Amino acid sequence: MYQGELKQPVTRLQGIGPKTSKILSAAGILTINDLLKHYPRAYEDRQNITGFKPALRSAEPEMINTTAVVVSHEYFGRPPNQTLKVLLEDESGLSAALVCFGRNFLAEKLVPGRMLLIYGSFQNRYNELQSSSFEFELLPPEATFDTAAEIQSGSDEFGRILPVYPLTGGLSQKIFRKAIDHALKEWAANIETELPESIRKLHGLYSKPESLINIHFPGSEEQQKQAERSLKFEELFHFQFTAARRAWKRKSVHKHQRLSVLPAGFDDLEQRLLKGLGFELTGAQKKALNEIKSDMNSDRPMSRMLQGDVGSGKTLVAFIAALAAAAAGGQAAFMAPTELLAKQHADNAYRLLEPLGIRIALLTGSVKASQRTHLLAALAAGEIDLVIGTHALFGGNVGFRNLNLIIIDEQHRFGVMQRLALTGKNSTADLLLMTATPIPRTLAMTVFGDLDISTIDEMPPGRTPVETHLAAIGNEQKVYDFVRNELHKGRQAYFVYPLISSSDKTALKDAGTMFETLQKEHFRDFSVGLLHSKVDENTKKEIMDRFRDGSIQVIAATSVVEVGVDVPNATCMIIEHAERFGLSALHQLRGRVGRGMHKSYAFLVFSPELTETGTARLKIMKQSSDGFFIAEEDLKIRGPGNLSGYEQSGFLPFTIADLNTDFDLLKDARKAASDLIEKDPGLLAPENNCLRRLFEVCPPFTDEVLV
Ligand code: ADP
Ligand code: MG
Repeated sequence: MYQGELKQPVTRLQGIGPKTSKILSAAGILTINDLLKHYPRAYEDRQNITGFKPALRSAEPEMINTTAVVVSHEYFGRPPNQTLKVLLEDESGLSAALVCFGRNFLAEKLVPGRMLLIYGSFQNRYNELQSSSFEFELLPPEATFDTAAEIQSGSDEFGRILPVYPLTGGLSQKIFRKAIDHALKEWAANIETELPESIRKLHGLYSKPESLINIHFPGSEEQQKQAERSLKFEELFHFQFTAARRAWKRKSVHKHQRLSVLPAGFDDLEQRLLKGLGFELTGAQKKALNEIKSDMNSDRPMSRMLQGDVGSGKTLVAFIAALAAAAAGGQAAFMAPTELLAKQHADNAYRLLEPLGIRIALLTGSVKASQRTHLLAALAAGEIDLVIGTHALFGGNVGFRNLNLIIIDEQHRFGVMQRLALTGKNSTADLLLMTATPIPRTLAMTVFGDLDISTIDEMPPGRTPVETHLAAIGNEQKVYDFVRNELHKGRQAYFVYPLISSSDKTALKDAGTMFETLQKEHFRDFSVGLLHSKVDENTKKEIMDRFRDGSIQVIAATSVVEVGVDVPNATCMIIEHAERFGLSALHQLRGRVGRGMHKSYAFLVFSPELTETGTARLKIMKQSSDGFFIAEEDLKIRGPGNLSGYEQSGFLPFTIADLNTDFDLLKDARKAASDLIEKDPGLLAPENNCLRRLFEVCPPFTDEVLV
């Protein structure tokens, strides 16, 4: 079986000994399969003999591929550090020089009169064409310009389009190319094409062997493009097919327990919660809540993404869902990306849900061992209804008695494996993902095609949009004066910096230094706190508590305050070196203010050396406070593959496809996958083998990658 063979170690290949294989394994290349999947990062076109002419008038170095004859040798520099210069002539009589730094031994090979093939970067210097970076191959002694072209076609390294690989550890392109060449010669022809024939025909795609051969050693640029397209399509097709299958799997299991028999008293509990709030749910919150309740009522597990702009009130909706889960006799787990946020959610849960009889616990990394043991026992015994925590929630020793709702806040902050580990605690539990990084519709359709989406597109009443000002660096004094005025009115402020600390005081402002400056120089009458990721968790909590109760008025921070922090009395957000932050971070940071009844302000302080995208980002921030608009603009600036927040978490782990450039291909692949499934839904069933081996060769994804 060839699949098995492709899993053989690379040492099976000629020329790959222990030393090379060690370098390869450090780069993650262990098997023949890994090797074939290591695609070139570029190509060198060595097909056409150009002569030296193209480099003659170019101001930039020019890549030259040509035949030439050695004319003479020269040496320059002072003895004993002389450097060899080999003078060449091409067929038309144009001369050029090879500067052989540290390679004087080449004099013995490049003897006058000898013909050679040469590929290198040539540049006009000191009135001659020179290259110090070149590769060459000697032609047989009898070769002439007339026969050279013919001879070139028999060469491994010349007369073709050569792949250039991303390599590490001092491995040479030559050795790597040889290895790939061997692997292709021995195995490529037998690799089965697993993308269905009909799809291949329709989209004009290569078979798998053709794809692999032409991605590594294309005969022409068109062939290379075609191979690349075919491999990308395959990857994207698999991505979409996997998403469809996963959706199908989730929808085909039955929940152990559902809410359909709405627990006696739930309505009453919900009413009591809502009455105690002092405000009404917005229409959008109600709608999202109804969608969630209806999912929870169905006998299929919920897979829902709740998206809503910062401050739109997602937490409350999630709490009511947790209340329903608990009222039905189950347990809910609520995971947040930081301890700060988990603590804040827990505080709110104690305030809102505990009076209704919900038993709540907070489980984070800093919970002490003794307390932790106690807590885990209670969780396993079903004595806790709602547990709120960080990734500590999915530790191996955390067991639930009846977990029926999993809530993941700021879901894009979690890696795939973390999300999986929690959903693994009960695969039939309802799943509610929340995000304030809105997913543009285009991406939602394709990448998150298997999730249902609820959107809170309405802000709680009484909020006025945050007034946003841009200030060039140097004008901060005015900003500080303005903030002082706000503080005197009883309001509070955040100052955000791109760095925690810095030893170089001339470069960027940092939170540590500015904390002192703000306290000692600008806000002497007020109390300033410092918050960043290196501050220990207990101190962090204490500072946040004091900020919340008003005994600290100003916080100097890094972007740790970006996520979720909710202090309605804070009205000023000052982001210094704002051009250093991405759009979604800026939007999230600004969302920390404007959460209460007072008018709020954001000041984006920027340095004058702005890049084009830096300027574009600041303009967008000034122009709009609508998270969806900002996300769409972000998409335009950065491309979907770099969508803020998603790229860090390895959300889209493609090996060759790139959503920035291949979005149309993704749509084609999506359609192909859904057409195929529509024709034969049986393909989705796990027991159906017909597609089982699809993508077993070079598998781009496993099921687990999604969610
Ligand atoms: P996010 O969607 O960013 O997670 P939160 O859930 O933190 O937003 O809510 C932001 C603030 O708005 C909280 O202080 C919350 O109590 C308040 N809030 C939520 N819903 C409403 C509402 N319907 N009316 C007024 N205030 C609300
Ligand atoms: Mg939130």
